[in-house]
Amino acid sequence: MLQSDQLNEPGKGQQRSDECLLGLVDLAPFGVYVVDSSFRIAHINRSAQARAFRNVNPAVGRDFAEAMRILWPEDVAAHAIRAFHHTLETGEPFHSTDYRHPRADIAGVESYEWELHRIFLEDGEPAVVCYYFDSTTLTETDEALAQQRRQYEAILNTTPDLAYIFDLDHRFTYANEGLLKMWGKTREEAIGKTCLELGYEPWHAAMHDREIEQVVATKAPVRGEVPYSGTYGKRAYDYIFTPVLDANGDVVAVAGTTRDVTDYRLAQESLSNHARQFETLLEQAPLGVYLVDADLRIREINSIVLSAFGEIEGGVIGRELGEILHRVWPKDFAGEVVSMFRHTLETGEPHIEAERANVRIDRNVAEYYEWRLDRIVLPEGRFGVVCYFRDISHQVWVREALRSADRRKDEFLAMLAHELRNPLAPIRNAAQILHHVSGSNPAVAVASAMLERQVQHMVRLVDDLLDVSRITRGRIELRKGRVDLGAALHDAVEVARPLFASHDHTLTVTGPSRPLQVDADPSRLAQIIGNLLSNASKFTPRGGHVWVSVTRQGAEAVIRVKDDGIGIARDDLPRIFDLFAQVDTSLERSQSGLGIGLTLVKDLVELHDGRVEAHSEGLGKGSEFIVRLPAMADPADVQAGDPARRTESMRV
Ligand code: ADP
Repeated sequence: MLQSDQLNEPGKGQQRSDECLLGLVDLAPFGVYVVDSSFRIAHINRSAQARAFRNVNPAVGRDFAEAMRILWPEDVAAHAIRAFHHTLETGEPFHSTDYRHPRADIAGVESYEWELHRIFLEDGEPAVVCYYFDSTTLTETDEALAQQRRQYEAILNTTPDLAYIFDLDHRFTYANEGLLKMWGKTREEAIGKTCLELGYEPWHAAMHDREIEQVVATKAPVRGEVPYSGTYGKRAYDYIFTPVLDANGDVVAVAGTTRDVTDYRLAQESLSNHARQFETLLEQAPLGVYLVDADLRIREINSIVLSAFGEIEGGVIGRELGEILHRVWPKDFAGEVVSMFRHTLETGEPHIEAERANVRIDRNVAEYYEWRLDRIVLPEGRFGVVCYFRDISHQVWVREALRSADRRKDEFLAMLAHELRNPLAPIRNAAQILHHVSGSNPAVAVASAMLERQVQHMVRLVDDLLDVSRITRGRIELRKGRVDLGAALHDAVEVARPLFASHDHTLTVTGPSRPLQVDADPSRLAQIIGNLLSNASKFTPRGGHVWVSVTRQGAEAVIRVKDDGIGIARDDLPRIFDLFAQVDTSLERSQSGLGIGLTLVKDLVELHDGRVEAHSEGLGKGSEFIVRLPAMADPADVQAGDPARRTESMRV
């Protein structure tokens, strides 16, 4: 039977209730035991025997000091023994709160909260009662919680995001290191403060106050983005506030995380600037550009496309290409274009149309387009086809107008030459008659000779003109046959001889070493060589030198006419064969013709499947014209002997 200091004189009637109390103590979930004045364990309840004293069983009757030394390491046991002695002797209660020690009898650390009181037993002897509470599990839970907390903090302090908790008065109860750093504050300075107290601008603080209230009221998160000037300057932050609920589902705090999205926003902005730039480029391109996706639906267009497609109700974006094209073009053509798109989409082969015309069914006019299709990869990873086109209707129209003007000019020139030629024959006859009848009248003789020369000149000009217009209109007929080039050269030189004589030119003629034959119209061949000789003479100053040669080079017969005359500037060389092309020289204009001589040469040479080139080292450095014609099989192959190469140089 136990008695406390205060209740040490029990009345007899209380015996039953004391026993009952004892029973309760025995079953209590905490430990109770009594150490008597001889320092032996006098009583112990079940919990204590089963747990703390499980290795000192039975404990009752055992020496307390001995029992303690079994259970605990020496210093721990000694400390407890001292405490028991003290209370036993002085009656002072003892309280131990942070008793946490490794056990001696088993592996593991145990925590106890215990207190000692002096009591008197039935025999009047003092004793010590120890009540204890095993807080091992609680302490372990606390430790686990603390450990968990450290883990979370480690994470929260290393994340680049800002993390924090507001209490219901909008005060920060937690701020991770990132946030403290951004504020430039220590934990002590920051915790317990509101946004406003931490220096947020009033509108900003008020906004968060409203949001916290909203989270508390709705128990739903709130998200926002806000600029803030902190340690890192003015940056953009994306944040989210979430309710923290207790076990009953009531909001006890508001947790928040904030992310610095400045770089992301900048990247987004530069991307959209980039996109805008491209859009502008596309928009200002002098081309129609549109894009269809893998389902041949129109995805993107620029304004030129819009005006080319014309007014289409509901717009064209997202519509099927075929549907749109069928509104604009005849059925067959629209279908053909769609299959071209499909082909490029499937094969990746670009499709190019240099000029394609059709009559628009919506406008009832012919429109000409130049276009190309290319396959590209769309952002979603599928193929698409981009079409670039240019409306060339105007150019085609201008070109056709030019062609028709050119045709009319050719026709006019032909008619003019024809009409001019007719009166020339009677004039020439008249001149010849005059010459015959001039007799002893020298004035008439001079006049008739001049008349004849001029008429001759005019006949040549008109003939050239007629030839050119015949060639350009494809109305020239060659009477080709086997022509000996050596002989043809000889004849042409004979015709031109007076011309060279009149200019005091030295003419060097080199014939072919063997007979050289070409399939040609003899009169046209004479015209080719004659024109080149006449030019060489015209453009070589008095006393100059002209070389003319005919040679075989492989399968080609080569005619060269070279002079040491005024030469041709490098820039003028390429256009020297153009119709009416004349290089402005200081040479008297009376020397020149109409600028059709070389055109005729080129056209006639080409009609003979040959080609002609002009060479000159520049002004004052002479010129050389080279005509190449296909040579016929060498007759020397079948003939014996090889006639000597003839070179004839003459001062004429
Ligand atoms: P043109 O009737 O003016 O002679 P051509 O077609 O025969 O017309 O020649 C075109 C131009 O080429 C001439 O006006 C002249 O400027 C240049 N040209 C032709 N042959 C020679 C040459 N042998 N030397 C220098 N320039 C020449």
